[in-house]
Amino acid sequence: MKISPLADPRDLPDLPRLLRDEPRDTEWRLHRGHERHLGHPYGQSFDPGVPPGLAQLLINNLGAPCADQQTGTEAREMERQVIGWLMQLWGCEMPQDHWGAISASGTEANLWGLHLGREALPDGVLLYSADAHASIPKAARMLRIPAQELHCTPEGEIDLAHLAEALAGLGGKPVLLALTCGTTAKGAHDDIAGAIAVLETAGYGPERRFVHVDAALSGMVLPFLSDAALSIRPGFHLAIDSLSVSGHKMIGAPMPCGALVCRRVHARRNGHRVTDPRPAEVAPMRTRNDHAVLAIWTRLFGRGYAAFAEDARRCARRAQALARQLRGAGAQVLCNPHSLTVVFAQPDEGMARTYQLACSKGLARAVVMPSVTEPLLDCFVSDYAAWATRRGMENDAAMTQPR
Ligand SMILES: *Cc1c(COP(=O)(O)O)cnc(C)c1O
Repeated sequence: MKISPLADPRDLPDLPRLLRDEPRDTEWRLHRGHERHLGHPYGQSFDPGVPPGLAQLLINNLGAPCADQQTGTEAREMERQVIGWLMQLWGCEMPQDHWGAISASGTEANLWGLHLGREALPDGVLLYSADAHASIPKAARMLRIPAQELHCTPEGEIDLAHLAEALAGLGGKPVLLALTCGTTAKGAHDDIAGAIAVLETAGYGPERRFVHVDAALSGMVLPFLSDAALSIRPGFHLAIDSLSVSGHKMIGAPMPCGALVCRRVHARRNGHRVTDPRPAEVAPMRTRNDHAVLAIWTRLFGRGYAAFAEDARRCARRAQALARQLRGAGAQVLCNPHSLTVVFAQPDEGMARTYQLACSKGLARAVVMPSVTEPLLDCFVSDYAAWATRRGMENDAAMTQPR
């Protein structure tokens, strides 16, 4: 229904009905949409969830996460516990040497990470791979960081030879390097240790480089997979500077959110610049959504390490199984090791819409999240196989047409 923004609610023909129906219709549509969602890594199992009473409250985390709580409308202690959980997962052996906060999204966490990098190295040039998330070059534009895109391997990992070449061409300028753990397009994991070794070889020691790892999806997958090489597992066991994750992907918060953890030295450098009685305000957003903190806290502590580890193992297994089934149906498929993302030729528009596949450049992808059910995958495989057969027949027919 179209409602004029100028309308006085009292003039609307049936206000009680409108207030009841419009949200209810939207809810119905969302349920339908969520049931058949394959294209984006949305966590959609919300149990345990935040007790409903809290949804009625304004909870605003005002200012620095590491500061003491100053108003009665914050959930700061829970934010610290959440960050502590992530720090442990990501190998921060000395949590006091690290800093972290909940962000509005993985995108915003990437923006913060690169902001910290720019403050550390004001003359730095950002290097990122062609398959880095769009938020990386966007952050570079917002922060006016000169940036250069690097090639990827066909599987979607950053091309380390091209990295070495680019470093040699920087004329000694410092470098900000954005790596990805679980690329959006192909679920690839950049070789973090390999990239750092290339930096070292090129003479880029820790004081002349800043390494940010965008681990929006796989930051909550790879740390749990003991068979994944340490070189691609995101964490501070490697000489990285900051690490970001989305809250509404594997963590499963029912609203967009994210988190950033960095070495404390970077947060401290930024915090000094703030003239404010509150200490070390690093987050670019002063007002932050504590409902997200509650949601993430409830998920992490309510489920525990072992449950997330099981999710990661199971989803990685199921992604490989989906890839095998699609290959069995004659499709060409890419599913990188330890990845939840399965990539294949883009089917017709109707099918892409039905399963809400993410499509680009003739490829489509499905992400096997914990909430993706077996019946949904079965339906998808059978529809995709039928489409591939139809297309194969059309191609055959085209080949046999007289010229
Ligand atoms: C999803 C994603 C992002 C963006 O995260 P949002 O939380 O959706 O803003 C960034 N990088 C990668 C690799 C992603 O998969």
